[in-house]
Amino acid sequence: MIAVLKRGTTIEQREHLIRWLKNMNLDVHVSSGKEITVLGLVGDTSRLDTELLTSLEIVESVKRVSEPFKQANRKFHPADTVVKIGDIKIGGGNFAMIAGPCSVESQDQITQIALDVKAGGADILRGGAFKPRTSPYAFQGLKDEGIRMLTEAKKVSGMPIITEIMNVRSLELFEDVDIIQVGARNMQNFDLLQELGKTQKPILLKRGLANTLQELLMSAEYIMSEGNENIILCERGIRTYETYTRNTLDLSAVPVLHNLTHLPVIVDPSHATGKASLVPSMALAAAACGADGIMVEVHNDPTCALCDGAQSITPDQFATLNKKVQTVREAIK
Ligand code: PEP
Ligand code: MN
Repeated sequence: MIAVLKRGTTIEQREHLIRWLKNMNLDVHVSSGKEITVLGLVGDTSRLDTELLTSLEIVESVKRVSEPFKQANRKFHPADTVVKIGDIKIGGGNFAMIAGPCSVESQDQITQIALDVKAGGADILRGGAFKPRTSPYAFQGLKDEGIRMLTEAKKVSGMPIITEIMNVRSLELFEDVDIIQVGARNMQNFDLLQELGKTQKPILLKRGLANTLQELLMSAEYIMSEGNENIILCERGIRTYETYTRNTLDLSAVPVLHNLTHLPVIVDPSHATGKASLVPSMALAAAACGADGIMVEVHNDPTCALCDGAQSITPDQFATLNKKVQTVREAIK
């Protein structure tokens, strides 16, 4: 349920109302914009007398939120959430380019790619250390050693880093990681989501291969309901009957999610298409439809990559793409 407060409500009046609501065992989330203040009420609101609440002098209107996602709902929190990673911001008009290899393969590889993508305009370095592979016989990532190498590349390049977590047990290894990625295959690993909700780390939550946007938002809700609101959503393609591309990039997810939620939304055209030749056009399309960022796989020697070489672009291609993305962003302002 949400209660919109009237303009001119004083802080004392607002706090008095919040105390009254909390006494009814409700959690109250305050969203104060320039014009209006919205109180988001979570919990068992069935015993709340909505007519009484509506009749209060400072209350403009009261509405039940019918969607099952509450804290992620834009109705609860009309202003865009801006996720901050040091000086970098994502959301609310702030855009970030995330680039790097699918997997960390060696110290030289990740450091070189870090320097290359930074020179090409990247804001954040990606690199998988724990890899969710379809085959147990495929390269599984360098694990804790991979995170150590990524951290070293962060020091050398000065760029923040993002890497995927697969298991709650490895959380302590992520202390120096700036954004923790929950991959498509773990989007509904609810134990993992709840544990990440107890941290204040920015979380990149990828849409599952066969999940609806409502399910994606319910997964974000799992993290938020534990207290962590630093979430970035990521569209990375879904399974359809089309086999020419690895997945089907659902770009309509960007405006739909922007409408439903205040959380930032980025797009990963690499896993969506599976083909390096398609990555630039889909990245530009993502920028054109208002994405808050793009994450692309970049490798300095794609043919020798240990994972996802076919969808990896080179640092030169990344630099060219980055310039075009910035042009598209200017054009849609
Ligand atoms: C990745 O980003 O390396 C990855 C495995 O992505 P996804 O979870 O989208 O498949
Ligand atoms: Mn990959």
